[in-house]
Amino acid sequence: MSARCALVGNPVAHSRSPDLHHGFAQACGIDLVYDTILAEAHTFAATVAQFFAAGGRGLNVTVPFKQRAAELAYASSDAVQLCGAANTLWLDAQGKLHADNTDGRGLVNALNAHAVALAGKRILLVGAGGAAQGVYHPLLASEPHCLDIANRTPEKAAAIIAAQGGHGRALALNDIVDAPYDLIINATSSGLDNRALHLPTGCLAAGRSVCYDMVYGKTTPFMHWAQTHAAAAVFDGYSMLVEQARLSFAQWFGVLPGAPTYQTTG
Ligand code: NAP
Repeated sequence: MSARCALVGNPVAHSRSPDLHHGFAQACGIDLVYDTILAEAHTFAATVAQFFAAGGRGLNVTVPFKQRAAELAYASSDAVQLCGAANTLWLDAQGKLHADNTDGRGLVNALNAHAVALAGKRILLVGAGGAAQGVYHPLLASEPHCLDIANRTPEKAAAIIAAQGGHGRALALNDIVDAPYDLIINATSSGLDNRALHLPTGCLAAGRSVCYDMVYGKTTPFMHWAQTHAAAAVFDGYSMLVEQARLSFAQWFGVLPGAPTYQTTG
């Protein structure tokens, strides 16, 4: 019988996760059916319970249920305990629900694969929603020189830094910064509907700053801005999507699928 996994969220229709996981399964010789499940706030917990009661192997969770997924779990990884959000669920042998968040490790692995250095670098994370919450500590653990967060609502940036033990600055999008950043990561959802993103003045150095947008599959206004300001390299979020998915797959099946080759800065 096929193993069953799924992505639960709202919306889920345009997700690339089924294709990715079917590709991993084929490469690993695993018979997998990976579905998408559209849930509502009042049906999410029951959807998770029904999926596992019916023998489901693993769930990915996306917007807007990552925090709810973390609350449902009996046991959580350090990543989930730090950021309070989960994107990967599975049952242990005793039938207890476990949760992990692979977004942060996925982003760090993706940046490593692009040959983007983190240690000793000046990093600006733009956005303070669920994705920023999930990646902040793994980025911090890469020992950057500084890790600042800029957000339309700067109080949310300050809350992430305080909650996760950072020392960086919380900036507003119209602030002026003293020195440019080596890496600027867009973790806002502004690119999804092509809205222009205002950024702190002076944050990019032509020829030196690398820009990464978590949105994938399109050239966002942030990526266009980075290109027109001669960023050293510009990446979309596809590599992060693949890397977080590889880590989720490894949680469910105990085998890490091979990684594709990504474009590098070199
Ligand atoms: P979220 O919790 O809804 O947070 C949205 C963030 O975007 C907030 O910081 C919000 O600012 C900001 N924002 C939205 N519209 C904006 C605008 N017009 N101008 C400036 N800031 C704006 O969403 P999320 O879960 O963090 O996801 C963020 C993005 O990351 C989404 O596009 C998602 O698809 C992407 N993502 C990609 C991957 C991947 O694997 N590639 C993984 C996870 C997430 P306020 O706080 O001021 O409202």
